[in-house]
Amino acid sequence: MRLSSFFMPTMKETPAEAQIVSHRFMLRAGMVRQSSAGIYSWLPLGFRVLKKIEQIVREEQDAAGCQELLMPTIQPAEIWRESGRYDDYGQEMLRISDRHDRDMLYGPTNEEQITQIFRDNAKSYRDLPKLLYHIQWKFRDEIRPRFGVMRGREFLMKDSYSFDLDYAAARRSYNKMFVAYLRTFSRMGLKAIPMQADTGPIGGDLSHEFIILAETGESEIACDKAFLDMDWLGEETDYESDLQPTVDSFTAKYAATDEKRDADQEKALGDRLAVARGIEVGHIFYFGTKYSKAMNAVVTGPEGEEIPLEMGSYGIGVSRLVAGIIEASHDENGIIWPESVAPFKVGLINLKSGDEACDKACDGLYGDLLKAGVEVLYDDRSGRAGVKFADMDLIGLPWQLVVGPRGLKDGIVELKNRATGERQELSPEAAMAKLTA
Ligand code: ATP
Ligand code: MG
Repeated sequence: MRLSSFFMPTMKETPAEAQIVSHRFMLRAGMVRQSSAGIYSWLPLGFRVLKKIEQIVREEQDAAGCQELLMPTIQPAEIWRESGRYDDYGQEMLRISDRHDRDMLYGPTNEEQITQIFRDNAKSYRDLPKLLYHIQWKFRDEIRPRFGVMRGREFLMKDSYSFDLDYAAARRSYNKMFVAYLRTFSRMGLKAIPMQADTGPIGGDLSHEFIILAETGESEIACDKAFLDMDWLGEETDYESDLQPTVDSFTAKYAATDEKRDADQEKALGDRLAVARGIEVGHIFYFGTKYSKAMNAVVTGPEGEEIPLEMGSYGIGVSRLVAGIIEASHDENGIIWPESVAPFKVGLINLKSGDEACDKACDGLYGDLLKAGVEVLYDDRSGRAGVKFADMDLIGLPWQLVVGPRGLKDGIVELKNRATGERQELSPEAAMAKLTA
């Protein structure tokens, strides 16, 4: 992509409404624009990141044996009346009526919808187990939408649902999602700590929130410092193997959200205790037969008996992650994208557009990078070098390839690593070799 034709409206000034760093950089880098409170348009740069994150989530769900489908955003009220949540959900639910005065709503989540689909289409224990997910926009009329896409009203969520015959099987599904979440977040460069979370009126101990630590986080958490320098997951996961030991190796360490903190355990930890703020990027939840009983979602067992489905649900805040990753990875000049989610891998900077030698060298490198399948944003604009450097640092691409007239005379270009700040002078060929390795 040539920057001269890319729609990336950057801003020099810090927008007054943005209180946290991710919101500021997302506005300044031209990633998003607010439409109304808590509702955003994703401009090309931001949209590329959103898609990258979505794709990592998708790949890890698929790897865990979870099957993708797509449910609508608009749902009929009647299924929510069946579960009893139409009244319980309160003002966070955006309620709509259609031209025939039917009560509809913009889905804040999809337990009812998926339970209905499963109930109507799966009849036998042989249809189990199943893990299904979709990545779809949700709407929650949050009382205080804030911090940009971090707490929006309209936001993109991945939500999965598990259907099993009994508790042991439901636990296996839960463990698959637990491990898939660890893998998903670590691919994005995040240490998302699984923390015991409140299960509300359902009870039990099977609910974890995955939380990344950040000063700007909305929730207070406490955890064993050992999490911070723990080895995350290795390369491969065999989802058909027993995942309980892996899950246990994480849950054995103390980590709790505010509602689940335990004074005795914290005292025992002594100075290994970290109390911090965090951002919830995912939440997994086993809720047994809560919805299946209310909505009569049963299968017939081997003896012909009716068995209510054991269920769980598993969410990831895809759009929140864009901001979450920025909170975890930035400096005073801008964003520092991990390569896995970067909108482009390389920013190619032409220090003197219009100069014959510079244009020729840049055009060559640009073409070669494209041919090699490397995503590159080419700053071919005329204008001051300082502006180009500042914009490139702001948007945070992992590599900056800088081409100027002086270097070219000696046959060299400069390659800068955005994260470390390290600069290398090398031949264009050597730079290409590094970027395509
Ligand atoms: P929170 O406690 O932050 O309000 P929640 O517990 O209500 O979130 P869940 O129902 O568990 O959220 O939704 C699954 C995931 O969706 C959350 O872990 C979070 O990452 C994301 N999410 C929830 N609400 C929002 C929101 N208003 N804006 C952006 N992402 C959200
Ligand atoms: Mg939650």
